[in-house]
Amino acid sequence: MIAFVLGALTWTLLEYLIHRWMGHDRRFKKTPFGVEHVRHHIEGNYFAPTWKKVLFALGLGALLVLLAGIGYTVGLLASYALYEVLHRRYHTHGGFGPYGRWARRHHFHHHFVDGRTNHGVTSPVWDLVFGTYAPTSAIPVPRKLVMPWLVDASGAIRAEHAGVYRLR
Ligand SMILES: [Zn+2]
Ligand SMILES: [Zn+2]
Repeated sequence: MIAFVLGALTWTLLEYLIHRWMGHDRRFKKTPFGVEHVRHHIEGNYFAPTWKKVLFALGLGALLVLLAGIGYTVGLLASYALYEVLHRRYHTHGGFGPYGRWARRHHFHHHFVDGRTNHGVTSPVWDLVFGTYAPTSAIPVPRKLVMPWLVDASGAIRAEHAGVYRLR
């Protein structure tokens, strides 16, 4: 159980490091992750194909089983899978509850305000540790990248999101 929890926590750090360095450092722009991540930012609703994620998880899992054992590996991969589901849902569905609303503001600040901040997707912990945490104010969302849940049929920001997001 301790190994599972440690594995799960380790993923939150990897999530931060991979995103910050592989996703946003110029030196890694041409790597497979870098290329996919640039496209995610440019297109907004683009996500790397599932087979690449499965390949990544299998490779990482095989390595970790050998190095750290099964409990740690299962914990880390479960945490990774949760991250994948949550990140996709931030983009595709509006958030409910304090966490859902916070996580979207945190992540869309990274997308639309300052890509050098808020690299953690599911938690603020590692941004706070490494000094890249940015508090959010009204987030300017480009019209062509607008999330489907943010606007009504006429293309205007839904009332419940007014003040938190604005179109630019
Ligand atoms: Zn990014
Ligand atoms: Zn995103």
